Amino acid sequence: MKNPNLKQQVDSRRTFAIISHPDAGKTTITEKLLYFGGAIRQAGTVKGKKTGNFATSDWMEIEKQRGISVTSSVMQFDYEGKRVNILDTPGHEDFSEDTYRTLMAVDSAVMVIDSAKGIEAQTKKLFQVVKRRGIPIFTFINKLDRDGRDPLELLEELEELLDIESYPMNWPLGMGKGLEGLYDIYNKRIEFYRPENYGGEAYLPLDENGEIPSDHPLTKNSIYRQVLDEVELLTEAGDEFDPAKVDRGEQTPVFFGSALTNFGVQTFLETFLQFAHAPYAHELENGETLSPYEENFSGFVFKIQANMNPAHRDRIAFVRVCSGTFERGMDVTLERTKKKMKLSNVTQFMADARENIQEAVAGDIIGVYDTGNYQIGDTIFEGKLNVSFEDLPSFTPELFMKVSAKNVMKQKSFHKGIYQLVQEGAIQLYKTYLTEEYILGAVGQLQFEVFQHRMLNEYNSEVVMTPMGSKIARWIDPKDLDEKMSSSRNILARDRFDQPLFLFENQFAMRWFADKYPEVELKSLM
Ligand code: GDP
Repeated sequence: MKNPNLKQQVDSRRTFAIISHPDAGKTTITEKLLYFGGAIRQAGTVKGKKTGNFATSDWMEIEKQRGISVTSSVMQFDYEGKRVNILDTPGHEDFSEDTYRTLMAVDSAVMVIDSAKGIEAQTKKLFQVVKRRGIPIFTFINKLDRDGRDPLELLEELEELLDIESYPMNWPLGMGKGLEGLYDIYNKRIEFYRPENYGGEAYLPLDENGEIPSDHPLTKNSIYRQVLDEVELLTEAGDEFDPAKVDRGEQTPVFFGSALTNFGVQTFLETFLQFAHAPYAHELENGETLSPYEENFSGFVFKIQANMNPAHRDRIAFVRVCSGTFERGMDVTLERTKKKMKLSNVTQFMADARENIQEAVAGDIIGVYDTGNYQIGDTIFEGKLNVSFEDLPSFTPELFMKVSAKNVMKQKSFHKGIYQLVQEGAIQLYKTYLTEEYILGAVGQLQFEVFQHRMLNEYNSEVVMTPMGSKIARWIDPKDLDEKMSSSRNILARDRFDQPLFLFENQFAMRWFADKYPEVELKSLM
């Protein structure tokens, strides 16, 4: 046996992503998790990348040399016998197809919600991508130290807007200035927000009736009785906690807390690590699945980070390890080309330099230095394993630009660049149906900027882009296509596989179309 500890090592892995709308508190909670994991000595270092304690890892060296900023792409730490990998899913202007694809490489997800705002647009989009994978989703309702919305209302909104059962693992005892603590349903205890007001202990166990001693000062606070009533209502009328449903992504355990004041985060982490899934078996193209305990190494590329520095053309391919053990310098086969590759220039993601010489096993992420061999979705495997993982899904773009070469004499480099970047998965390409104009589609604005930059630096092609704004893309069956369906409210185009689609101006235009042609099915990608 190559690695006698493989099963135990794989079972200890917890690989997840945090999904949220910008400003809900993802960075803050990530810092607190890293802090508990001993990966940083002080919260507040994730965003200020330069000052962080990551500085000594060899990754930083590559980053410095090549100008690739990936330090926080994957963060790893150990906690109570588990090895935790957090994959970053950028929000804000960094939001791109990479964000979605990263969700294909995790075994569970944590959804952070701002208690004053509830479910926001980006949370919903990311949630839907995770939900389709059928993996566990945990919810952290943040900013309890501020006045937010009624917790019951938040749960209701979650169930209605996201169509998922929820189970409150704990329940807030007040909020904002009146925050006293958490009534911890799962751990059967009260967790105090200001223990100093209640004798100094952070936790107080509940008795078998779910109550605390009647002479305890908290019982004098009306919030205590109110919460007992609410919890009674929840346990009688709500769903029961069902770990099997959690495992299938049909029920989300909900935790309340305040990342900023570090309240409820550790309780969340400990319970999360108990129920989050260890690495799953992965689906293969031939319909079979591959066990993570298979001793031969395999993995797939879910993201390629190109260098934005024109002096360096190199890239990093992010590989999710799906089976076996990665060893530095090992030989693998790239399934698409059958080419042998040596994995020598590889980075593992360590938040703490002390643990630099660890192995990577199924569940972990490695960063492979790439000179242009890899594409998104590629499988690599060791020895005679000879597997091919399922293709990564394509995602429906929402932003569109018309694109052309600035210099008409330079059509050749323009075409070469555009086709290579499209194939790499950096952006999507469409052509208008009759006039064959090029249209680029993306899920985030940043993809256009990266495209423009790389066209200039890697293909010496200056491009002109004309924003078309957001559109709703829907594919139709080629046999349903009638050119008369095209109108001023939509654009008829074809994708790079020659499949017809409409780009609708808005929901209204799409509904109008659906009413007019009820027999035509409008399909979105994932
Ligand atoms: P991200 O965009 O989701 O990564 O959000 P950040 O972690 O950067 O947080 C956005 C803002 O909310 C920052 O100003 C944080 O200090 C603040 N914030 C995060 N968590 C909390 C919290 O629990 N309570 C309060 N009051 N503010 C918070």
